[in-house]
Amino acid sequence: MNKKIEVLSDMIQSSTNIAFFGGAGVSTESGIPDFRSVDGLYNQSYKYQPEVILSRTFFQDNTQEFYDFYRDKMIALDAKPNQAHIALAKLENEGKLKAVITQNIDGLHQKAGSKNVLELHGSVHRNYCMSCQKFYDIDIIQNSEGIPKCECGGVIKPDVVLYEESLDEQIMSDTVKYIAEADMLIVGGTSLAVYPAAGFINFYRGDKLVLINKSETAFDVKANLIVRDSIGLVLASATGRFEDEDDE
Ligand code: ZN
Repeated sequence: MNKKIEVLSDMIQSSTNIAFFGGAGVSTESGIPDFRSVDGLYNQSYKYQPEVILSRTFFQDNTQEFYDFYRDKMIALDAKPNQAHIALAKLENEGKLKAVITQNIDGLHQKAGSKNVLELHGSVHRNYCMSCQKFYDIDIIQNSEGIPKCECGGVIKPDVVLYEESLDEQIMSDTVKYIAEADMLIVGGTSLAVYPAAGFINFYRGDKLVLINKSETAFDVKANLIVRDSIGLVLASATGRFEDEDDE
Protein backbone atom coordinates (compact mmCIF):
# COMPACT_ATOMS: atom_id res chain seq x y z
CA MET A 1 0.00 0.00 0.00
CA ASN A 2 2.65 2.53 1.00
CA LYS A 3 4.65 1.77 -2.11
CA LYS A 4 1.59 2.50 -4.24
CA ILE A 5 0.94 5.76 -2.41
CA GLU A 6 4.52 6.76 -3.15
CA VAL A 7 4.14 5.96 -6.82
CA LEU A 8 0.86 7.86 -6.96
CA SER A 9 2.36 10.81 -5.16
CA ASP A 10 5.30 10.93 -7.59
CA MET A 11 2.93 10.75 -10.53
CA ILE A 12 0.93 13.69 -9.19
CA GLN A 13 4.05 15.69 -8.54
CA SER A 14 5.28 15.22 -12.08
CA SER A 15 1.91 16.18 -13.60
CA THR A 16 0.56 19.59 -14.52
CA ASN A 17 -2.74 18.74 -16.20
CA ILE A 18 -4.63 16.22 -14.10
CA ALA A 19 -8.23 15.24 -14.68
CA PHE A 20 -10.25 13.37 -12.07
CA PHE A 21 -13.17 11.15 -12.98
CA GLY A 22 -15.29 10.05 -10.03
CA GLY A 23 -18.24 7.82 -9.36
CA ALA A 24 -20.57 6.98 -6.50
CA GLY A 25 -17.72 5.62 -4.36
CA VAL A 26 -16.48 9.16 -3.83
CA SER A 27 -19.77 10.12 -2.19
CA THR A 28 -20.37 6.92 -0.23
CA GLU A 29 -17.42 7.89 1.96
CA SER A 30 -19.47 10.95 2.92
CA GLY A 31 -22.34 8.68 3.90
CA ILE A 32 -24.34 9.08 0.70
CA PRO A 33 -25.66 5.68 -0.42
CA ASP A 34 -24.98 4.35 -3.89
CA PHE A 35 -28.42 3.50 -5.17
CA ARG A 36 -26.99 1.19 -7.82
CA SER A 37 -25.06 -1.01 -5.44
CA VAL A 38 -26.36 -4.10 -3.72
CA ASP A 39 -25.65 -2.54 -0.35
CA GLY A 40 -27.35 0.61 -1.44
CA LEU A 41 -31.02 1.27 -1.49
CA TYR A 42 -32.24 -1.93 -3.09
CA ASN A 43 -33.20 -3.64 0.09
CA GLN A 44 -35.18 -0.72 1.34
CA SER A 45 -38.87 -0.25 1.55
CA TYR A 46 -40.02 1.21 -1.75
CA LYS A 47 -42.52 -0.41 -4.07
CA TYR A 48 -40.27 0.15 -7.08
CA GLN A 49 -36.58 -0.23 -7.74
CA PRO A 50 -34.64 3.04 -7.59
CA GLU A 51 -33.92 2.82 -11.33
CA VAL A 52 -37.64 2.78 -12.02
CA ILE A 53 -38.43 5.67 -9.70
CA LEU A 54 -35.53 7.74 -11.03
CA SER A 55 -36.67 7.51 -14.63
CA ARG A 56 -38.20 10.18 -16.80
CA THR A 57 -41.34 8.13 -17.36
CA PHE A 58 -41.88 7.64 -13.64
CA PHE A 59 -41.27 11.33 -12.99
CA GLN A 60 -43.95 12.23 -15.53
CA ASP A 61 -46.52 9.62 -14.50
CA ASN A 62 -45.93 9.46 -10.73
CA THR A 63 -44.49 12.87 -9.85
CA GLN A 64 -45.70 12.75 -6.27
CA GLU A 65 -44.14 9.33 -5.61
CA PHE A 66 -40.96 10.44 -7.34
CA TYR A 67 -40.65 13.34 -4.94
CA ASP A 68 -41.41 11.19 -1.89
CA PHE A 69 -38.42 9.02 -2.79
CA TYR A 70 -36.29 11.92 -3.96
CA ARG A 71 -36.70 13.93 -0.76
CA ASP A 72 -36.14 10.82 1.33
CA LYS A 73 -33.12 9.33 -0.46
CA MET A 74 -31.52 11.66 -2.96
CA ILE A 75 -31.04 14.86 -1.00
CA ALA A 76 -28.35 14.60 1.65
CA LEU A 77 -27.75 18.17 2.64
CA ASP A 78 -26.06 17.22 5.90
CA ALA A 79 -23.34 15.30 4.08
CA LYS A 80 -19.88 16.81 4.32
CA PRO A 81 -16.98 16.59 1.88
CA ASN A 82 -14.57 13.80 2.75
CA GLN A 83 -10.81 13.57 2.35
CA ALA A 84 -11.12 12.79 -1.36
CA HIS A 85 -13.10 15.97 -2.09
CA ILE A 86 -10.69 18.02 0.00
CA ALA A 87 -7.55 16.58 -1.61
CA LEU A 88 -8.94 17.24 -5.10
CA ALA A 89 -9.88 20.83 -4.25
CA LYS A 90 -6.35 21.33 -2.99
CA LEU A 91 -4.83 19.94 -6.20
CA GLU A 92 -6.98 22.30 -8.25
CA ASN A 93 -6.00 25.22 -6.07
CA GLU A 94 -2.34 24.34 -6.65
CA GLY A 95 -2.96 24.46 -10.41
CA LYS A 96 -2.26 20.78 -11.00
CA LEU A 97 -5.79 19.54 -11.43
CA LYS A 98 -7.82 21.08 -14.24
CA ALA A 99 -11.21 19.40 -13.87
CA VAL A 100 -13.25 17.19 -11.61
CA ILE A 101 -15.67 15.13 -13.67
CA THR A 102 -18.29 13.50 -11.52
CA GLN A 103 -21.29 11.23 -11.81
CA ASN A 104 -22.50 12.41 -8.41
CA ILE A 105 -25.23 14.98 -7.95
CA ASP A 106 -24.59 16.08 -4.37
CA GLY A 107 -22.43 19.15 -4.92
CA LEU A 108 -19.81 17.97 -2.41
CA HIS A 109 -16.86 18.83 -4.67
CA GLN A 110 -17.97 22.47 -4.76
CA LYS A 111 -18.58 22.37 -1.03
CA ALA A 112 -14.94 21.30 -0.62
CA GLY A 113 -13.79 24.24 -2.76
CA SER A 114 -13.46 22.74 -6.24
CA LYS A 115 -14.26 25.27 -8.96
CA ASN A 116 -14.23 23.43 -12.25
CA VAL A 117 -16.67 20.58 -11.66
CA LEU A 118 -18.31 18.83 -14.61
CA GLU A 119 -21.48 17.25 -13.30
CA LEU A 120 -22.40 14.59 -15.84
CA HIS A 121 -25.62 13.72 -14.03
CA GLY A 122 -26.56 17.21 -12.91
CA SER A 123 -27.03 18.48 -9.38
CA VAL A 124 -29.70 18.39 -6.70
CA HIS A 125 -28.81 22.01 -6.00
CA ARG A 126 -30.25 23.21 -9.31
CA ASN A 127 -33.93 22.96 -10.11
CA TYR A 128 -36.06 24.59 -12.73
CA CYS A 129 -39.67 25.13 -13.74
CA MET A 130 -40.67 22.89 -16.64
CA SER A 131 -43.02 25.60 -17.96
CA CYS A 132 -41.15 28.91 -17.67
CA GLN A 133 -37.59 27.65 -16.93
CA LYS A 134 -37.31 29.78 -13.78
CA PHE A 135 -34.43 28.58 -11.64
CA TYR A 136 -34.83 27.38 -8.06
CA ASP A 137 -32.27 26.21 -5.54
CA ILE A 138 -32.66 23.18 -3.31
CA ASP A 139 -34.79 25.01 -0.74
CA ILE A 140 -37.89 24.85 -2.92
CA ILE A 141 -37.67 21.04 -3.01
CA GLN A 142 -36.73 20.73 0.61
CA ASN A 143 -39.34 23.11 1.98
CA SER A 144 -42.32 22.06 -0.09
CA GLU A 145 -44.60 19.09 0.22
CA GLY A 146 -45.94 16.94 -2.56
CA ILE A 147 -45.05 18.25 -6.00
CA PRO A 148 -43.00 21.45 -5.89
CA LYS A 149 -44.58 24.12 -8.08
CA CYS A 150 -43.30 27.30 -9.65
CA GLU A 151 -45.03 30.63 -9.05
CA CYS A 152 -46.35 30.26 -12.62
CA GLY A 153 -47.97 26.95 -11.66
CA GLY A 154 -45.51 24.78 -13.55
CA VAL A 155 -43.92 21.66 -12.08
CA ILE A 156 -40.37 22.09 -10.83
CA LYS A 157 -37.89 19.42 -11.89
CA PRO A 158 -34.45 18.80 -10.45
CA ASP A 159 -31.60 19.44 -12.90
CA VAL A 160 -30.63 15.81 -12.47
CA VAL A 161 -30.25 13.41 -15.37
CA LEU A 162 -32.89 10.72 -14.91
CA TYR A 163 -32.86 7.30 -16.51
CA GLU A 164 -34.08 7.60 -20.13
CA GLU A 165 -32.69 11.14 -20.33
CA SER A 166 -29.52 12.01 -22.19
CA LEU A 167 -26.48 13.73 -20.78
CA ASP A 168 -25.81 17.39 -21.50
CA GLU A 169 -23.84 17.64 -24.75
CA GLN A 170 -21.67 20.54 -23.65
CA ILE A 171 -20.65 18.73 -20.47
CA MET A 172 -19.91 15.58 -22.44
CA SER A 173 -17.71 17.38 -24.96
CA ASP A 174 -15.89 19.24 -22.15
CA THR A 175 -15.36 15.91 -20.40
CA VAL A 176 -13.81 14.43 -23.53
CA LYS A 177 -11.61 17.51 -23.96
CA TYR A 178 -10.24 17.46 -20.40
CA ILE A 179 -9.60 13.72 -20.49
CA ALA A 180 -7.97 13.80 -23.93
CA GLU A 181 -5.67 16.67 -22.92
CA ALA A 182 -4.80 15.38 -19.43
CA ASP A 183 -1.28 14.22 -18.65
CA MET A 184 -2.68 12.22 -15.74
CA LEU A 185 -6.13 10.72 -15.26
CA ILE A 186 -7.26 9.61 -11.81
CA VAL A 187 -10.42 7.52 -11.79
CA GLY A 188 -12.00 6.85 -8.43
CA GLY A 189 -15.03 5.28 -6.84
CA THR A 190 -16.41 3.69 -9.96
CA SER A 191 -16.18 0.24 -11.50
CA LEU A 192 -16.53 1.86 -14.96
CA ALA A 193 -19.01 -0.84 -15.88
CA VAL A 194 -21.79 1.52 -16.91
CA TYR A 195 -22.07 3.55 -20.09
CA PRO A 196 -21.01 6.27 -20.72
CA ALA A 197 -18.32 6.38 -18.05
CA ALA A 198 -16.22 3.71 -19.72
CA GLY A 199 -16.40 5.47 -23.08
CA PHE A 200 -14.94 8.68 -21.66
CA ILE A 201 -11.90 6.95 -20.18
CA ASN A 202 -10.99 5.69 -23.66
CA PHE A 203 -10.14 9.25 -24.68
CA TYR A 204 -7.16 9.34 -22.33
CA ARG A 205 -3.87 9.10 -24.22
CA GLY A 206 -1.26 9.45 -21.49
CA ASP A 207 0.65 6.93 -19.42
CA LYS A 208 -0.60 7.88 -15.98
CA LEU A 209 -4.00 6.25 -15.71
CA VAL A 210 -4.69 5.60 -12.03
CA LEU A 211 -7.67 3.58 -10.82
CA ILE A 212 -8.63 3.90 -7.18
CA ASN A 213 -11.51 1.59 -6.38
CA LYS A 214 -12.24 -1.02 -3.76
CA SER A 215 -13.23 -3.64 -6.34
CA GLU A 216 -12.10 -4.57 -9.82
CA THR A 217 -12.92 -2.26 -12.70
CA ALA A 218 -13.44 -2.81 -16.39
CA PHE A 219 -10.24 -0.86 -17.09
CA ASP A 220 -7.81 -2.63 -14.78
CA VAL A 221 -5.85 -4.06 -17.72
CA LYS A 222 -5.25 -0.56 -19.11
CA ALA A 223 -4.28 1.08 -15.83
CA ASN A 224 -0.75 2.22 -15.00
CA LEU A 225 -1.54 2.05 -11.31
CA ILE A 226 -4.35 0.36 -9.40
CA VAL A 227 -5.04 1.07 -5.75
CA ARG A 228 -7.73 -0.98 -4.05
CA ASP A 229 -8.53 1.14 -1.06
CA SER A 230 -10.59 4.02 0.23
CA ILE A 231 -10.45 6.90 -2.22
CA GLY A 232 -10.37 9.42 0.63
CA LEU A 233 -7.52 7.71 2.39
CA VAL A 234 -5.51 7.21 -0.79
CA LEU A 235 -5.85 10.78 -2.07
CA ALA A 236 -5.21 12.30 1.34
CA SER A 237 -2.08 10.18 1.79
CA ALA A 238 -0.77 10.79 -1.72
CA THR A 239 -1.27 14.56 -1.60
CA GLY A 240 -0.28 14.85 2.06
CA ARG A 241 3.20 13.63 1.20
CA PHE A 242 3.99 16.91 -0.56
CA GLU A 243 3.62 18.81 2.65
CA ASP A 244 5.86 16.41 4.53
CA GLU A 245 8.53 16.81 1.90
CA ASP A 246 8.26 20.58 1.89
CA ASP A 247 8.85 20.63 5.61
CA GLU A 248 12.07 18.66 5.41
ZN1 ZN B 1 -42.63 28.63 -13.93
